[in-house]
Amino acid sequence: MQYISTRGLAPPLQFDDVLLEGLASDGGLYVPDKWPQLSESEFAKLKNLSYPDMALEIMYPYIGDVIPREILKDILFEAYANFSNSQIAPIKRIDDSTWLLELFHGPTLAFKDYALQVVGKLFNYVLEKKKKTVTIIGATSGDTGSAAIEACKNKDAINLFMMHPKGRVSEVQRRQMTTVESSNIYNIAIEGTFDDCQDMVKLLFSDQEMREKYNLSAVNSINWARILSQIVYYFWAGISLHSSNKKLKFIVPTGNFGNIFAGYAAHKMGLPIHKLLVASNENNILTRYLNTGNMTALDVKSTLAPSMDIQISSNFERLIFDVYNQNGTNVREAMNAFRKTNSIRFSEESWEIICNLFDGFSASDQLIRETILRFYETKGELIDPHTATGIAASLVNENNTDTNTVCLATAHPAKFPNAIKDSVGFSPEVPKQLKRIFQKEEKFTVLPNDFGEVKNFIYKNNNR
Ligand SMILES: *Cc1c(COP(=O)(O)O)cnc(C)c1O
Repeated sequence: MQYISTRGLAPPLQFDDVLLEGLASDGGLYVPDKWPQLSESEFAKLKNLSYPDMALEIMYPYIGDVIPREILKDILFEAYANFSNSQIAPIKRIDDSTWLLELFHGPTLAFKDYALQVVGKLFNYVLEKKKKTVTIIGATSGDTGSAAIEACKNKDAINLFMMHPKGRVSEVQRRQMTTVESSNIYNIAIEGTFDDCQDMVKLLFSDQEMREKYNLSAVNSINWARILSQIVYYFWAGISLHSSNKKLKFIVPTGNFGNIFAGYAAHKMGLPIHKLLVASNENNILTRYLNTGNMTALDVKSTLAPSMDIQISSNFERLIFDVYNQNGTNVREAMNAFRKTNSIRFSEESWEIICNLFDGFSASDQLIRETILRFYETKGELIDPHTATGIAASLVNENNTDTNTVCLATAHPAKFPNAIKDSVGFSPEVPKQLKRIFQKEEKFTVLPNDFGEVKNFIYKNNNR
């Protein structure tokens, strides 16, 4: 299996180099040159496997000779060993046609752990094998940061610089990042938005001097290994709920388009997904695009679901590349035009193909609160504000009995106590993983949204 860049200029790479590089050198994202296909018999074999065993079957074809199967198996079993639910990703029935796929049983209580716990261990293995060290630079709208820090702490071969938009992540999210004691972790609060932080990562990556001196690497959802790890739970739920007379639909709270792109990959591998629904908060660029064919970035709004306060969904480029039949030149031109004007109309044909599989739904803060309350009153369960955008979407087609709908629950409600309190009038119970972060001292550095200052900080603190 080879990986190619969506912009067509970077050299094709094997899995281990794609893992370490993150972003391709031409500014594009790496994708597999073909989608592995699961035959009927392979499909049947997946049924009844444990989560890590299923992960092995799904992920191994993408990794091939680069990591021996036995070692990959160990990595996967270790990665999921400390999850708090023995099912890893339990599937909870809501009604006859709706399920909640709970993806918040990892160490930082959001779905990011399902990939990053694996990715941290993959990094360690590959770096040891290559006798290399890396500097990982990341941007987080909240949950990636803590999950990445948790996955990389105390790993000698890695230095991690994590940027978050100052004052725009929840207190729990910030404390989860800034209270981890590990000498290889640096938290930076940027005076700007998440998109500014994400742009900063791209700028640092395009700085040849930095790239070469420090072996820059990324663990944002632009890193292919994260998407790959996330494909697994689409199969996990899809196979468990498979029924020959019902269609399968996933509703995915979406920001950077990484999670839902993993669903697309599962579809391309042969999982019979009928619809993928992009649920968002008021930052609804993707819903507007699906409705009109125009992708136009507006200013980022702060909402109750901060991990999705994003206008530019980086991973959408992977979808466009696939739908453009892997024409890197066309993608490069389109993305450059989008950069310049913040607006783009991709080809009409691509829009039609995308609309056949994807739907969009956008929830206001008001609707998020109402949905959290309604779900609590009718089902007795608390959901977090990101999950609520998806549940709100599922309620629109409530009586759709020919379809099994799986709503991805992307975070534990206790990560967002204020939004929960605003909605139901009381705060969720605090799980033990979160109690200790309120007793510890925070460590982070505030920097302006300025390339020179950020670069300087990394130079000063990087002891590689
Ligand atoms: C990151 C995140 C999302 C958005 O996922 P993308 O892969 O960026 O689309 C949704 N919900 C929660 C809780 C998150 O942390």
